[in-house]
Amino acid sequence: MSNSFRIQRRRLLLTAGAAPLAVLSAAPVLASAAQMAIPTVDFRRFRVGQFEVTTLLAGMRTVDNPQAIFGMNVSEEDFADASTAANIPTNAAQFFFTPTLVNTGADLVLFDTGLNPAGITAAIGAAGYTPDQVDIVVLTHMHGDHIGGLSGDMGVTFPNASYVTGAVEFDHWAAAGNDGFDAKVAPLAEKMRMISGGDAVVSGIEAVEAFGHTPGHMAFRIDSDGQSLLIAADFANHYVWSLAYPTWEVKFDRDKEAAAATRQSLLTMLAAEKMPFVGYHMPFPALGYAEERAGGFHYVPHSYQLLMGG
Ligand SMILES: [Zn+2]
Repeated sequence: MSNSFRIQRRRLLLTAGAAPLAVLSAAPVLASAAQMAIPTVDFRRFRVGQFEVTTLLAGMRTVDNPQAIFGMNVSEEDFADASTAANIPTNAAQFFFTPTLVNTGADLVLFDTGLNPAGITAAIGAAGYTPDQVDIVVLTHMHGDHIGGLSGDMGVTFPNASYVTGAVEFDHWAAAGNDGFDAKVAPLAEKMRMISGGDAVVSGIEAVEAFGHTPGHMAFRIDSDGQSLLIAADFANHYVWSLAYPTWEVKFDRDKEAAAATRQSLLTMLAAEKMPFVGYHMPFPALGYAEERAGGFHYVPHSYQLLMGG
């Protein structure tokens, strides 16, 4: 191909490329596309061995003044420095509410239920299931954002489910009482199996004591075909403020010292074993890894590790 031919050909292509623009500019003006709201319901499916794991975004909200919740025992400057270093604002935080479905092939197991029946029902529907397919509902602890979806005006949300929860947690709230427990959990007590750390929910799903956030707060370890995952619930509630600074005090942790010790030991285990975890309040899809860094931990969001082999 000669040089002059190349140049001519290039001119032709440029001209051809320009033609549709001329047509477009002569076209009538169309209405602009509508802007969409940020979705507050979503799902993401992963594989852990033979198990399918689906994280469900059942709600999301922006909360002002996050230092009223995280880092109550550090200075405003330290909080601002940590936030700026992680490129997140200091004056507001985004809260996510992420129940998890595990389909073992034999059982559909739901971990926590979100704030209300509407949120969890919408998220389960988005993920391709219906609430009546849920076989077992596991409650990690009894805070309102985890038990709120159990029932509502329409009755129970999961009509065919049995329930599993930690004995220590149940006994605490049964004695102490709270509005959410009395309304949502107590009526289901007869269908509830109480377990302790080390007990199995079903084969391949084992309870792990993670006390501190609440008196009997539990995490759950999933093991299938040599792959593992920790459904970690609320042992760490923010991907920066709780992971990089495990000793920062959190308003919602009932026993702040025990919660910090649980954070430290579970994060150390997750980092050492390079085990993925689902954090109920981590940024959706709420699945990631912990790496040791600078006296604390760094959150590494899942990329494709649990999508492979399909
Ligand atoms: Zn929570």
